Amino acid sequence: MADPAVLAVAEHRRGELREISLELLTAGRELADAIGGELHVAVVSGDVEAHADSLNREGVDAIHTVAVGEEFDHSVYQGAVEALVDAHDPTTLLLPNSVNGLDYAPAVAESLGVPLVTDAIDVAYDDALTVTREQYGSKVETTIEVDGDRFAITIRGGEWPAATGAGEATIESFDAAVDPGESGARVQGYEEVGDGDVDIADADVLVSVGRGIEEEENLELIFDLAEAMGATVSSSRPIVDNGWLPKNRQVGQSGKVVTPDVYLAVGISGAVQHVAGMKGAETIIAVNTDPNAPIFDIADYGIVGDLFEIVPELIDDFE
Ligand SMILES: Cc1cc2nc3c(=O)[nH]c(=O)nc-3n(C[C@H](O)[C@H](O)[C@H](O)COP(=O)(O)OP(=O)(O)OC[C@H]3O[C@@H](n4cnc5c(N)ncnc54)[C@H](O)[C@@H]3O)c2cc1C
Repeated sequence: MADPAVLAVAEHRRGELREISLELLTAGRELADAIGGELHVAVVSGDVEAHADSLNREGVDAIHTVAVGEEFDHSVYQGAVEALVDAHDPTTLLLPNSVNGLDYAPAVAESLGVPLVTDAIDVAYDDALTVTREQYGSKVETTIEVDGDRFAITIRGGEWPAATGAGEATIESFDAAVDPGESGARVQGYEEVGDGDVDIADADVLVSVGRGIEEEENLELIFDLAEAMGATVSSSRPIVDNGWLPKNRQVGQSGKVVTPDVYLAVGISGAVQHVAGMKGAETIIAVNTDPNAPIFDIADYGIVGDLFEIVPELIDDFE
């Protein structure tokens, strides 16, 4: 097995491989091609064998399973990734820009003495590594050239398509010699905050509601529409700031990045901070009274009109 140009670290939660893991494979393959070398993937903790099978997609050369620990554990991930770097000498570490990824990436980078660039929306290599990030509330994109022989990058979810196609990667067990019991930190359990049964990032169809809804009690209309469509309800930030929906329903820069098949934005203006979280949706539909609302610039279909007239009609149609 040759040394990898890129080592991507997969992420799973409660036994499910997360979508970002497959997006990492696409980004990783592109980068490995540019650098010239193999793409390796690591999966740490839990049911690593099952996850390895799901990660075996086209373009992956090798998968390393690290069967230690059950759930995310900072010290296990840090130890496992460092041991993999020692053993396989990748040029680039590609990690998810998630709560978990951001938990261990800085520790790994500091310990290995490599530069870390977080929240990448694009990466390229042409004699030097360049990473593109968004700044000033997604108003500006900055491309940074990174010095060094080895790099660590966390990538934003929803920026690369998920890798598809069956792969022919070698799957090897890797003994990272880390002990979850040894570190000072220990996972005590997993608890979802707020309306924990809903993960809007996993929904195929989202009905998203914004300030155009006016009053909390009007949200019932949106839930009725979502039920008729078989969709999940998400929202813009003011709805969450008002305490009308829990934080885990918020889409956007300071909320969640979502990539559903259909995103129906109802009474949402389309501010850059909101768009940052939903622009990867396959089909965007907007309902707004203002024909000049920025949401129409990115919508595939738009309905200019009053949501209090349009939503009841949509509910009737879907029922
Ligand atoms: C650092 C920072 C981070 C942020 N993070 C986020 C984030 O993660 N997510 C997010 O969403 N925002 C975020 N924001 C806030 C963002 O800038 C906007 O203020 C917010 O997205 C606006 O939400 P909105 O579109 O629901 O409301 P508004 O901008 O008030 O838009 C309401 C829309 O509803 C339409 N409307 C009104 N009445 C009706 C009706 N009867 N029928 C149909 N349409 C109607 C109006 O024409 C208008 O376009 C952030 C801001 C900052 C500074």
